[in-house]
Amino acid sequence: IQTIGVLTSGGDAPGMNAAIRAVVRQAISKGKKVKGIRRGYTGLLAEDIVDMEAKDVSDIIQRGGTILQTARCPEFRTEEGQKLGAEMCRKHGIEGIIVIGGDGSFRGAQKLAAQGINTIGIPGTIDLDISCTDYTIGFDTAVNTAMEAIDKIRDTASSHERCSIIEVMGRDAGYIALWCGLANGAEQVLIPEKYDFDEQKIVNNIIANRKRGKRHYIIINAEGIGHSTSLARRIEAATGMETRATILGHMQRGGSPTCKDRVYASTMGAYAVDLLCEGKSNRVVAYKDGKFTDFDVDEALAMEKQISDYQFNVGKNLSI
Ligand code: ATP
Repeated sequence: IQTIGVLTSGGDAPGMNAAIRAVVRQAISKGKKVKGIRRGYTGLLAEDIVDMEAKDVSDIIQRGGTILQTARCPEFRTEEGQKLGAEMCRKHGIEGIIVIGGDGSFRGAQKLAAQGINTIGIPGTIDLDISCTDYTIGFDTAVNTAMEAIDKIRDTASSHERCSIIEVMGRDAGYIALWCGLANGAEQVLIPEKYDFDEQKIVNNIIANRKRGKRHYIIINAEGIGHSTSLARRIEAATGMETRATILGHMQRGGSPTCKDRVYASTMGAYAVDLLCEGKSNRVVAYKDGKFTDFDVDEALAMEKQISDYQFNVGKNLSI
């Protein structure tokens, strides 16, 4: 393999730039050429393709977002789109592509591999919702950003003796909520994977806590459950405690990546290049049980991941 393409696809995540930088520099160190494809599969179909040299990835390791931009590309879900994608790769001499994104982006990579282009996926999403890996690029930064924001809300909630409902991102996954629940010492964590909460129980608990002299009540609500504003209204009406909802939103997707995201994203970027150089295709880089490894994409997409019951229960036990 002589020329490697790299693209970011789906939602952006802090640390993607560190992965792009690693792909470019690891490839150059092995004597390969790199082409950057802008705006994910959309840019591939539109031939938005640029040569990347070592200097093109200078000064980006500390930056959030993705210098290659990202997009969702409905056209790439069709066979014509996938064929055109493979044609574009051939036209630009790209023999292997590294796709940084989530499960949807890996499905796209799988289709490109079926069209004869070698593909390697790197898990990039703040949601941590990729089953084959214990780590995804951006989760660490996002969860730290959310944790710091929640600390700030807690200060003011305590001063005013308020109940605060804080909605964090994660799409259908509750990892950011679960981690913040533990890290911020929340009284309640609501996540879609354990959708067993009883609103009356929460109301009773808020009233009991208030009687015991607790000055705030923090509820972390996952995006997958949502409806934080209406929940706040109902809780305020039922408890008499002033209740505010804060939806943290896209601030969680931005910002300078943490040390962990920089180091892991760099390692995964280099690992993906190594796989392509070994002639591998249709694989996803992962971090599993304390080691960097890789899986067949078909296998990776068929895996299931579960929120740890133990961790969830610890959160509950510590929130008394
Ligand atoms: P995130 O979870 O962070 O949003 P993602 O990679 O799962 O990331 P998607 O929007 O699902 O995000 O997918 C990104 C792009 O990958 C899509 O816009 C589409 O171009 C391509 N893609 C997704 N699913 C398929 C599929 N089944 N076949 C071909 N291409 C796909």
